[in-house]
Amino acid sequence: MIKIPKRLYGEIVKHAENGAPYEVCGLIGGKIVCGGKVVTDIYPIENSDRSREHFSIDVKAQLDAVRNMREKGIEPLGNFHSHPASPPIPSAEDIRLAYDDGASYMIVSLAKNKPVLKSFRIKGEKAVEEAIVTEE
Ligand SMILES: [Zn+2]
Repeated sequence: MIKIPKRLYGEIVKHAENGAPYEVCGLIGGKIVCGGKVVTDIYPIENSDRSREHFSIDVKAQLDAVRNMREKGIEPLGNFHSHPASPPIPSAEDIRLAYDDGASYMIVSLAKNKPVLKSFRIKGEKAVEEAIVTEE
């Protein structure tokens, strides 16, 4: 399970909408409390690929974000990216490129009228959805 404040949920959606029709991406940081993740910060990052179907998280932006997390005393929890025109399901490439089976891979889809955010753990070839809880 991963908890995320409504405000940050909204920021992820806004970042995705602003970047459309290209995919956008970013990192998520927070705390692990009793085995559950609590997102406290998100780090929107531009898609250095400027593509509708791929994303690459800029390496420098990624390092800056992780440094900021250390300073704040929070942990990297995973990343997010958008699917401007496809469902919120990891693509074959998303699965192939996932390297950390402890991380949460969030995908926000803009394919329908209302944006949908989902989160996955990816181990080997298998993506398993994890529940997202939004709170105030
Ligand atoms: Zn994807």
